[in-house]
Amino acid sequence: MNPVPPPAGCLACGVCCHSLLPTFVRLTGEDWSRLGPAAERVAHFIGHRAYMRMQAGHCAALERRPGPDGAVDYFCTVYADRPQICRDLARGSPECLGGQLAEAGRVGCRAGSPNPAFVGL
Ligand code: SF4
Ligand code: SF4
Repeated sequence: MNPVPPPAGCLACGVCCHSLLPTFVRLTGEDWSRLGPAAERVAHFIGHRAYMRMQAGHCAALERRPGPDGAVDYFCTVYADRPQICRDLARGSPECLGGQLAEAGRVGCRAGSPNPAFVGL
């Protein structure tokens, strides 16, 4: 298990870890190296390019865990070693909030709309 937990706001959301696209999270060689042994579990090649595996509509590194309040927590199991594209998505950014608007209903998380609680986290 990765000892570094995602921030609380992201634990309640997980929207940016969900997609139906198999090429949603592109990996560089540096990303693959940073993942270490976990790369074989959570990533793979499609053609000549590396991506996080997507399964059941979300990244293979994402785990749905019971949260302290009984709701689902969206836990990135490789958080400390996550790909650069995941590091670059800032919480509260237009991309973050737009993703919540577009996908929170499908994901079923607590961020059902751009929630002020997520802005500037
Ligand atoms: S969409 Fe924003 S709040 Fe939700 S998990 Fe991603 S960065 Fe965190
Ligand atoms: S590596 Fe972690 S932060 Fe990036 S999409 Fe997968 S579960 Fe989300």
